[in-house]
This record gives sequence, C-alpha cells and structure tokens, in this order.
Amino acid sequence: MRYIEPHAHMVSRTTDDYMAMATAGCVAVCEPAFWAGFDRSSAQGFYDYFRQITDFEPKRAAKFCLRHYTWLCINPKEAEDTGLADTVIDLIPQFLDCPTVLGIGEIGLNKNTKNELQILEKHIDLAVKYDQLILIHTPHLEDKLKGTKLIIDALKNQSHIDPGRVIIDHVEEHTAPLVLNAGFWAGMTLYPESKATPNRAIDMLEIYGAERMWMNSACDWGVSDPLAVPKTALEMKRRGMADDFIDQIIYRNPAAFLEQSGRFIAST
Ligand SMILES: [Zn+2]
Repeated sequence: MRYIEPHAHMVSRTTDDYMAMATAGCVAVCEPAFWAGFDRSSAQGFYDYFRQITDFEPKRAAKFCLRHYTWLCINPKEAEDTGLADTVIDLIPQFLDCPTVLGIGEIGLNKNTKNELQILEKHIDLAVKYDQLILIHTPHLEDKLKGTKLIIDALKNQSHIDPGRVIIDHVEEHTAPLVLNAGFWAGMTLYPESKATPNRAIDMLEIYGAERMWMNSACDWGVSDPLAVPKTALEMKRRGMADDFIDQIIYRNPAAFLEQSGRFIAST
C-alpha cells in the first residue's frame, strides 16, 4: 500500500509515529498550521512555529524517508484577536518561498464569529495575491453547516478563486454535497470519536464517489490516530472496494491536488 497523509500535525507526534506511518506505506505528510493546544502569547510565537514547520519538521520526517510539506496561516481559533492575526498574516509572505510550503491553511472558521470571518477573508486575499492553494478548516458539530456555508460564500465573493485549487476539510455527510457541488475538493477527517469514523467516510465515498475527495487523520496533540488512513484503506478492501479505487483516494487524489502547488512531489 502507498498513501499520502494530507493533513497531520506532526509537531505534536513522536518519532514512533513517523516510523509507523513510513512502514504502513506513507510517502509524504502535509502539516497545516493550526492551534498548538494552547493560545500563543505573541506573533513571535507564530514566527517560531513557522520556522519549526518549514525547517525543523521536514528534517525530522526525512529521517524516516518521509517528505514533509506545510501550509501557513493563523488558525481560526486564534484569529479572534484581529490585531494579533493581522501581525501574523504580515509574517507569512517571507515564508512562502520555502520549498516545502504548499499554500495558505488551515484557515476557516471555529465559532463562526465576525472577527474570524474578517481574518478568513484576509487569508483568502493573501492566497490570491501570492497565487497559493487553500486548505480550509470547517467548524465542529452544530457550527459546521452554518460555518461551511459562510466559508463557501467568502470564497465565492473573491472573484479570483478557482475552486479546483481549494480543499474544504473535515466534511461530513451534511456538508460534503455543498462543497463538491460548488466545485471544491472535499477532505474527510478520520477521528476515533468526532468528525468521521472510517465506516462513515467509506459510506460517503460510496454515495459521492471518488472525484475530488481525500482522507486524512488530522492527528494532533489530542486523541487521534496517525494510522487512520491506512487502517481505513484496509477497511475499504474488506468491504470489497477495488485496489485501484483505494489507491485513487489515498494516493492519486491528494497527489493531483497538491501537485498544483508546483512544489509537491509524492515520491522520487
Ligand atoms: Zn488540522
């Protein structure tokens, strides 16, 4: 089995996790900038985090023959402080030339507030200005449907956005059709308890098909599973799905989307 982990917060994982992913067939891992489990106290904290995910983490992954890529932003959870968010957004362009940066993400909404929306729009403008791919985080639970609609509206309001260069992540049964019908890519996040379980994700693939879909573990500092993608691939096989279909979901689809960055190489 070969697969790409398109969404993982490896700064909070151990080298054992890298080893397990590499031996399960992972060839590349992509790390969106996100909350670190605590609120950072200044823009300098983000500057150091951007250095960590553009410089240090690729070297750590390389020790396990894994390519490591990253996305940059201030996440919606910390974007409520718009003064801090503006300062962090100003830091981003100096990192966009790093050879492993894929684009702007994971941006989006957390509690669907006015401030979050304002910072989301600034990130979208930044992505357009620098011709970057976009990775979107959608809110959890009861905020998800409303937040997804607000995000799609914000993207559509930017006339230069190509939906084929945007992935909207953490979709569930009630948001996947909205995202796919608007021409965006859709990411399904496999979490042990919240978001989508492996079987729910596979059901969604049966309903909506494979086009513009990928799966990720979004593993982080909380209860999550860095092997969620290969374990789900095994479950797909058990349910009788063809090897070619599985390969499309866990390897060819993420590769096709990410190669639009001009940076991403799945394997040598
Ligand atoms: Zn994430």
